[in-house]
Amino acid sequence: MRRLYLALVMVLALSIAPDAARKVRVVTTTNDLKWAAEQIGGDRVEVVALMHPLQNPHTVQPRPSFVVQLNRADLLIRIGLDYEETWLPPLVEESRNPKIRRGGIGDVDASIGIPLLEIPQGRVTREQGEVHIWGNPHYWLDPENMKIIAQNIAEGLKRVDPAGASVYERNLRRLEQEMDNLLDETLKLAAPLRGEKFVAYHTTWSYLANRYGFRIIGYLEPKPGIPPSASHLADLILRMRQEKVKVIVKEPFYENRIPNMVAQRTGAKVVELCPTVGGEKGTETYPKLMRHILAKLVNAVKEAK
Ligand SMILES: [Zn+2]
Repeated sequence: MRRLYLALVMVLALSIAPDAARKVRVVTTTNDLKWAAEQIGGDRVEVVALMHPLQNPHTVQPRPSFVVQLNRADLLIRIGLDYEETWLPPLVEESRNPKIRRGGIGDVDASIGIPLLEIPQGRVTREQGEVHIWGNPHYWLDPENMKIIAQNIAEGLKRVDPAGASVYERNLRRLEQEMDNLLDETLKLAAPLRGEKFVAYHTTWSYLANRYGFRIIGYLEPKPGIPPSASHLADLILRMRQEKVKVIVKEPFYENRIPNMVAQRTGAKVVELCPTVGGEKGTETYPKLMRHILAKLVNAVKEAK
């Protein structure tokens, strides 16, 4: 009888233990958020990112596996604003996981507290395909903003896993220090970019330009999300010639034909840059990504002179 009792106790203990020791399941939309969640969560979390780093974030085609991941999630970390607006809310609904519904205990909007750029004046709708209707959501390419993202993630982790609060706090302090160091280092690295003028395909680089002191004087898209038009490109080519812009920045997921055509007519060079962790070789972490992007831009500026 006593042996049976012991066996029963052991079975019970075993059935409880894995759950108590189980990791916090975190789902992020982007790889940049995944990196941040792993820094703050450490051993206590397992993190999955839904989007591929080489995917255009504004035209995400959700896969059935997304719903499965969302259903199992303790925490969902998203960029917010209108970044995931077209595809994520229906999937969250479908996942039947009340924790990660908007405002739920496991819902983290990483944009809370970010000083936003390019908040539209007046009414903007998505009718014509325009995006960024609540301001520019590409805010992570600035170490100061990464600190705010990490604070939001730490708050979310503490809500769903209060037992890990001291670990999350400690990791947050460490990441904040790391970001301060990264900013010092990259400001030096990016010094040759100060005052430089670029043209880009999409408004992905505004926060980067703002932090490191260069300017994007025009875009191939007439408005974020609206494809280039002939009249807009004619104006842009004129301005590029007047202002002697020698570098066009484009993401790998935009087509090449138009950037190459504009480059040909202006004598500029197209530089391909992925704004997300893991999109290119040597960008497996956020600090590596920042160094990679800035070094590539510095190189492009030097080559153009
Ligand atoms: Zn965008």
